[in-house]
Amino acid sequence: MQYRQNLFGLNQQDLDNFFSQLGEKPHRTKQFMQWVYHQREFDFDKMSNLDEQLKDKLKTVATLDLPRVVVQNFALDGVIKWVLDLGNQNHIETIYIPEKKRGTLCISSQIGCALACTFCSTGKQGFNRNLSTAEMITQVMIAQQYLHAKDKNISNVVFMGMGEPLLNENAVYQACGLLLDDLAFGLSRRKVTISTSGIVPALYRLAKQVPVSLAISLHAANDALRNELVPINQKYPLKELLAACQNYLDSGTQERHILFEYVMLEGVNDSAQQARQLAKLLYGIAAKVNLIPFNLFPKSIYRTSKTATIKTFQDILFDNGIRATTRRVRGGDVLAACGQLAGKVVDKSGRSQL
Ligand code: SAH
Ligand code: SF4
Repeated sequence: MQYRQNLFGLNQQDLDNFFSQLGEKPHRTKQFMQWVYHQREFDFDKMSNLDEQLKDKLKTVATLDLPRVVVQNFALDGVIKWVLDLGNQNHIETIYIPEKKRGTLCISSQIGCALACTFCSTGKQGFNRNLSTAEMITQVMIAQQYLHAKDKNISNVVFMGMGEPLLNENAVYQACGLLLDDLAFGLSRRKVTISTSGIVPALYRLAKQVPVSLAISLHAANDALRNELVPINQKYPLKELLAACQNYLDSGTQERHILFEYVMLEGVNDSAQQARQLAKLLYGIAAKVNLIPFNLFPKSIYRTSKTATIKTFQDILFDNGIRATTRRVRGGDVLAACGQLAGKVVDKSGRSQL
């Protein structure tokens, strides 16, 4: 059978090229994107303003394929987790987190993750491969289809699911383009966030090319500890990471700020002295710190900090001029909280056997 191209993941320019190769005028792109992204119509036959000949052609050369939903879990607090089958026995996870005034979708960018942060369940699974733009965009489509029927919507998208987005730059940036494009999802740049453990060269490219919000997974305020918790720090130490962050803040036409994520691990990174060190490190940077209570997963070696310890840590940051919030744990009963996403990864790094 002829190879059929999945049209999810193509941006306006790609679709212009695609339709022009079929001998169609560029206005088809607009019509087509409105069907897919605004009407959520994935059946070419039902796209009524496309003529019959074009529909037939589309059916032979293209598809709008969504991955199979393996399971959909509903947590007691309204969080929804979709497990999606990406073939070859790999599963990824996508999470919807409803709040009073917004609905955030947390999407995956890779099958597993090669970076092996010691406190992260995804990191323990090893790595299989990068996701394509279509595989990221279809996570949003699947969630949107379900939520639309329930009269709910997605106001924010965060790349905080499985994987390190800045090790899959091109596909992630193209997905960001579609999330921001009014003909697709039309989200504002403040509502799309890339979270990274700090791939420094990519941060310079992102600062220039992609107008989205940035979250940095910091977790330690000195190199010795960060080398241990976030091993990529051995390659890109704090000094280089913070210089790249400052460059991000100084680039772009609109005011920017960075969210620094800091997972609270009992007896590891949660002392008063470490809070002061963190405040000193971030002083003068347009930053907000988000303290994340550590989420347990099977065989994890850490415990989460006590609530009182987290409060003291937050107060010290505040007293030293750093804005800080504590993330509420959401979706824990269906293993949908930060760092609990494991999916099913056919590991190619060999690490999962360690
Ligand atoms: N790879 C990217 C994005 C995915 S991880 C990154 O590291 O930023 C999303 C967030 O969840 C990161 O801040 C990560 O450090 C945090 N996280 C990972 N494991 C966690 C755990 N067990 N408990 C709480 N947060 C965790
Ligand atoms: Fe990868 Fe992020 Fe998990 Fe580290 S925290 S292993 S970078 S997904």
